[in-house]
Order: sequence, then C-alpha cells, then structure tokens
Amino acid sequence: MGDPTHDSSDFLTDKSAKIFVAGHRGLVGSAIVRKLQSLGFTNLVLRSHSELDLTRQFDVDSFFAAEKPRFVILAAAKVGGIHANNTYPADFIAINLQIQTNVIDSSFRHGVKKFLFLGSSCIYPKLAPQPIPENALLTGPLEPTNEWYAIAKIAGIKMCQAYRIQYSWDAISGMPTNLYGRNDNFHPENSHVLPALMRRFHEAKVNNAKQVLVWGTGSPLREFLHVDDLADAVVFLMDKYSGLEHLNVGSGKEVTIKDLAELVKEVVGFEGDLVWDTSKPDGTPRKLMDNSKLLGLGWTPKISLKDGLVDTYKWYVENVAGQ
Ligand code: GDP
Repeated sequence: MGDPTHDSSDFLTDKSAKIFVAGHRGLVGSAIVRKLQSLGFTNLVLRSHSELDLTRQFDVDSFFAAEKPRFVILAAAKVGGIHANNTYPADFIAINLQIQTNVIDSSFRHGVKKFLFLGSSCIYPKLAPQPIPENALLTGPLEPTNEWYAIAKIAGIKMCQAYRIQYSWDAISGMPTNLYGRNDNFHPENSHVLPALMRRFHEAKVNNAKQVLVWGTGSPLREFLHVDDLADAVVFLMDKYSGLEHLNVGSGKEVTIKDLAELVKEVVGFEGDLVWDTSKPDGTPRKLMDNSKLLGLGWTPKISLKDGLVDTYKWYVENVAGQ
C-alpha cells in the first residue's frame, strides 16, 4: 500500500472502462464528457433527465444493476443563483439529497470502483478565512441564502467519507470555485455575473447602446475557473487522489468585478460605457478557495481568464445569441 492520498487508480489505463457521468447535459457534466472523449474513452454511459430521474431510488438502483459502471462522476444537481435558492428552498435541499443519496448508495452496492462527488464553494461558512482552506468546513454559520443547497452538498461529502470509513470504498469529493464556460446559464437576471455581463454587453453591442448597467460597486473580488480546467482536474482526481478529505478546485486567481467587467467588455467588443448600479448588492467582498492541496498533488489550471472568456463568447454567439 502506498500513501493513501497518492494511490493511482487505473482510471487512465483502460479507455474502454464503463464510466457513468451523471448530469452530462449541464455546464460541468458536459465539460467532463468532452474531456473524457478527447482522452479516448469509448464507454461513457449517459442518461438524460427524461431517461433516468435520479431522485427515484428504484429507477436509479435498476439502472446501476443493469449497467454496472466501473467509475461514476456525479455532476447532476439542482443548481441556481441566489434568487432561485430563496424561492425554492425545499427543492434545493430535497432534490440534491435525493440525487446524491441514490447515486452514492447504488454506486457502492453495484461495485463501482471509484466515485467522485462534486459540490461548490458555498459549503463553507460565510465568514471563512480567505483563501478558504478545506478544513474551514463546518466551522461556522453558512450564508443563509444558499444554505439549503450547501447543507445537501455537505451531506454528500460526509456520505462519501462515511462509506470510505465503514466500507473502505473509494469515494472522493471535489469542491470547485465559480465556474464558467460552454453550456452556462445566460439568463439576464438569474445567472451569475460572468454570463450575465457577457449577454448584456453582447446585446448592447448588437443594439448600438451607449451604456451598460453593471450591478454593485465593482469592488468585490471573485475567483473564476473555466469548466474545461475543472474537467481536467476531475480526471486528475479520478486518477491520482484517494483520500478522505474533500479537495478544493480553484484557479487561485482573483479579479475585481470591475476588472472582470472591463475584460468581458473587451472580449465582446462593446465600445460604450459601464454604469454602476449601486442599488444592487455587492454580496460578499471576497471569495477565494485555497487550492494549495490540489496543486501540491501536481495539478495546475491551464486556461487564463482571457482565453476562457474568448472561448465562452464564441460558444455563446454560436449557440445562444442567435437562437
Ligand atoms: P456571488 O459570487 O454569489 O456574489 O454571485 P454573482 O455572480 O451573482 O455576483 C458576483 C458579483 O458580481 C456581485 O458583486 C454582483 O453585484 C456583481 N454583478 C455585477 N453585475 C452583475 C450581473 O449582471 N449579474 C450578477 N449576477 N452579478 C453582477
């Protein structure tokens, strides 16, 4: 036995191994599928929501009994911004608990060799130290607006740990920072800042508008990771990491909302002015993950914010803007 956190699985050696990527149509799942396909994996098992409802325990268990995947990556979740979390708290806690409980338990029962659970940075206390280390988990009260989602995700991490402890089952967890990229939600009000600004600047450019409204003061700091970098980290973790502790997945790079807005404006090619709507909330002043554990294992993010924005804007123009 080697160091348990460095044991390599045979994840990359057998490209015909059956892999179930749950949530393959979302921002995260679709990036993981692209990455696995680009690496030559040929046996991906994918089910749309209408083909398999992950909240139904019987259906999930029957699926696993029939398919018996070797590896499982759980990227399916009910997600949304502050407004959705506030409006549908029951859905956020119940659907996420149901999905993860069903998929984790059936994966274990049907002999999955390795399992990866994904969450987000909102699992951490509202007043966690910055950059946020993994061991800040459960050290203080959560941000109340997304505690329903966060509690479910924390339960998922703990469930993976419990199965590892009780059954020596190889279940691991990764917690990504703010993600962006293809297949993001570009809704004008309900989306996160990066896709919201991309859409607003694009529409302003097309309509020859002189000004664009941006929320808040522009001073908050945020960290962004391109979803293709996350997919790269997911493969890295499946191959190299086997530990009890969840690991942060971040770019380690912060940007002010003002600088982000300027960069998105440049990438989109909008030539008017930014007007700051300070009646809108800034939110938390800073949210940066401590990614030193993952970097210490040998992974590095590769996509700069500028390159990632160019890629995302090209996809937006081809797939969303003209629809
Ligand atoms: P947060 O990271 O959970 O605060 O989520 P957001 O991505 O929604 O917001 C990040 C920051 O961007 C906040 O300071 C917002 O006020 C600011 N922001 C500026 N313009 C926009 C916008 O059009 N949409 C959103 N969602 N945020 C914006």
